[in-house]
Amino acid sequence: MFIDVKPILSGLTDTIEFDYKLPPPESFNGLEFSEEITVRGKIKNMAGYMTLEAFASVPYKTACARCTKELSRVFEHEFSRTLATKLQNDENDEYLMITESRVDLDTPLLEEIVMNFDFVYYCKEDCKGLCPKCGHDLNEGDCGCANKKEIDPRLAILAKLLDK
Ligand SMILES: [Zn+2]
Ligand SMILES: [Zn+2]
Repeated sequence: MFIDVKPILSGLTDTIEFDYKLPPPESFNGLEFSEEITVRGKIKNMAGYMTLEAFASVPYKTACARCTKELSRVFEHEFSRTLATKLQNDENDEYLMITESRVDLDTPLLEEIVMNFDFVYYCKEDCKGLCPKCGHDLNEGDCGCANKKEIDPRLAILAKLLDK
């Protein structure tokens, strides 16, 4: 959304509050976004400059990297910037540009949200994962595979020969 900062520029108010929904980003890194992002916050006049503070709640779905269980979670992100009308360096990420009395919050906010997602998620810190042999979810108990003695096939052949 473009936020109009004219009320502050013209001295009508010192604070502009906003609260809106933002379409979620495309899926990436096994993360899925099926619900809108909630963005709320305010722009404040700090006598000579303006600051913007925003909080974004991003619902997402992914799978546990160890046991593949589906996870539905909400990522909370805090975003703050100083607003600037003129910039010597356009690449400066610490400022949000005011263009024609408006600020584009969505583009930099989405960029920052995407950058702050992790690459892997676990259903819990100590998720035991799946048994590599039978695929059993080890969080639900032991499948017994780890206790079964594996006989080396070469030794099995040797044992057969010795049996004769
Ligand atoms: Zn897990
Ligand atoms: Zn197993």
